Amino acid sequence: MWSFISQLFQPESPCFLCQNLTGDVIGLCRACQQDLPLTGRACLSCGMPVCGTACACNPAEWPFSAVLSASYYQFPADHLIHQFKETPRPELARPLARLMLQRIRRHAGPRPSLLVPVPAAANRLRERGFDQSLELARHLGTLLRIPVRHDVFQRTEGLPAQKGLNAGQREANIRQAFKALNLWALPKHVALVDDVLTTGATARHLAGLLHGAGVTRVEIWTVARTL
Ligand SMILES: [Zn+2]
Ligand SMILES: [Zn+2]
Repeated sequence: MWSFISQLFQPESPCFLCQNLTGDVIGLCRACQQDLPLTGRACLSCGMPVCGTACACNPAEWPFSAVLSASYYQFPADHLIHQFKETPRPELARPLARLMLQRIRRHAGPRPSLLVPVPAAANRLRERGFDQSLELARHLGTLLRIPVRHDVFQRTEGLPAQKGLNAGQREANIRQAFKALNLWALPKHVALVDDVLTTGATARHLAGLLHGAGVTRVEIWTVARTL
């Protein structure tokens, strides 16, 4: 009886990884969900798996009040994100946001008052036709009833290739690529939303700008975290 009722509210649609029929709320069949490398017990500062009692990450490098990533950036999560951005399949924003929501709900801390998507480069935006972080933030904003502002930062250009550069050169590139646009009337607690967290350099730069504008708690919410 219950499964009949739940199917009324969640009609079956193909799993977006394997095309099997599924009634799951995030749009993945049970088998594909079990394959996702979910983050489980990850460090709240850097998002990496914690072995033993504490993570050895440097708090100065990870100035976030929480890093909440749903999954590690491995198969099939990497495949999903690739499809979302490169195929492109903007309709995956909704199930991916629901996947993020599962991780966010496991976090007991207070909720941020504002979601700020990490903006995409203008050339990628033109190719893709949508801003992946903004789409994720919009769905999360609706699900959690948190406002979204996409006028806080501006991405002036695509990042030049970061490979082969030292940390200082990378940070200089990021400072050039992201500018603060409107830092007015920001609440004390903000979450930055992005698809993947890698070195954290972009998030660190944006968190620094937010902290400078009086924000005291900055969280990072992403679909995936690279290992
Ligand atoms: Zn599947
Ligand atoms: Zn850590």
